[in-house]
Amino acid sequence: MTLTVLNPATEEPIAELEQAGTEEADAAVARAKSTYPAWSAVAPADRARLLRRLATLVEENLEELARIESQNVGKPISGARGEIGMVAQVFHFYAGAVDKHGGETIPVAGGVAATFREPLGVVGLIVPWNFPANIASWKLGPALACGNTIVLKPAELTPLSALRLGELCLEAGIPEGVVNVLVGKGSVVGQHLIEHPDVAKIAFTGSTEVGRLVMRGAAGTIKRVTLELGGKSANVIFEDADLEQAAAAAPYSVFDNAGQDCCARSRILVQRSVYDRFLGLLVDATRGVKVGDPSDESTEMGPLVSAAHRETVASFVDGEPTYRGEIPEGAGYWYPCTIVEASNDDRIAREEVFGPVAAVIPFEDEADAIRIANDTVYGLSGSIWTRDGARALRVARALETGNISVNSNSSVRVTTPFGGFKQSGIGRELGPFALEHYTELKNVFISTV
Ligand code: NAD
Repeated sequence: MTLTVLNPATEEPIAELEQAGTEEADAAVARAKSTYPAWSAVAPADRARLLRRLATLVEENLEELARIESQNVGKPISGARGEIGMVAQVFHFYAGAVDKHGGETIPVAGGVAATFREPLGVVGLIVPWNFPANIASWKLGPALACGNTIVLKPAELTPLSALRLGELCLEAGIPEGVVNVLVGKGSVVGQHLIEHPDVAKIAFTGSTEVGRLVMRGAAGTIKRVTLELGGKSANVIFEDADLEQAAAAAPYSVFDNAGQDCCARSRILVQRSVYDRFLGLLVDATRGVKVGDPSDESTEMGPLVSAAHRETVASFVDGEPTYRGEIPEGAGYWYPCTIVEASNDDRIAREEVFGPVAAVIPFEDEADAIRIANDTVYGLSGSIWTRDGARALRVARALETGNISVNSNSSVRVTTPFGGFKQSGIGRELGPFALEHYTELKNVFISTV
């Protein structure tokens, strides 16, 4: 069966690919299994050198990779360049981590106890379509650094950058069979990997709904899983914040990547005393978001990824919103920047829209803000805007979320842990923290009596 890959900005086909089925998935797992003994035995310094070379190749091919990502996802080229830059940094970081993830000796009676961090074996990486290369690298980097071999399944809509990364792995000298990229349906190939007895772990990023299937499917073989799932993060604006600065930043925390971001601050909680003023500033700032051709250097927001996804996003907006932006005419899965006023009980505030729709919700005081922000099944990200340092720390500690920023809307850095509380996931990616999830801890006791 062939797969037609589209450019969401033009609706034109950009590639025709053969789709793998369960037989090809079995073959990919078998290849990864057969290369595992040799790859896991590569001397740490050599494995580090290979990862470093991969990082350098990503840098050398940055423009090409960014264009692939921009055309396949519809994301603005300037943002795509930043994302591919991060891919290179991630590989550099994990090249440096290979020989720094050691064990310990533990004082015990009658001998010596030492711990070793052993690789898991074959790991299955299942990634979504919103940040295809970036999220693949967050898993590939630590998985390879720890000595695992890999079957990587990109999303059906956006397989192109993963295929190119697979080629660069070979060019870097990583042996054939260590990284296997499998283009195929999640419900077929993904599900097969989850249940496969020769796959030791699934590292999954995607929706909470499919995350549940991953946990369920992994139960049969007690497979390790890490899950990076959905979010419904709060951007909490207190009355003592620099409102101009908070309002200028807020649109980009929801409309970046056309809102197709698990960290989107899609609930903007505003203290009632400054609600009207902030809303006016927010609408003005949103008017400035430049929506259009992703290949234009100045574009800030492109289209949604598919026609089906646009229908889902549109289903969240009933009636006339507080603000609806402009979109280009003609082909492309465009959806305008949209601001609605809501209560935290509305569907728009409870479910992940994954599109450029912000729900603005008033709150009374600090306790009310914390209550509303935590009144969600998710817990991935969020922001607090205030000039009161003690309040910032108090609220940051009280929010049930994995990543929180103060007077900033950033979530992700190469060196810091990223992951969710509650139904936003299990485990952490990035920094040294991810390494824990790609190794087993072994204890060896040697008797000295
Ligand atoms: P999705 O869950 O539909 O798909 C993700 C991946 O899972 C794809 O590769 C897909 O083919 C595969 N898949 C689908 N059904 C499967 C099945 N039954 N078995 C195995 N694999 C299957 O998600 P999506 O629509 O591609 O991405 C959007 C979602 O991802 C949003 O919910 C978003 O919040 C989440 N996300 C989370 C993070 C994070 O780090 N927490 C980052 C990006 C995206």
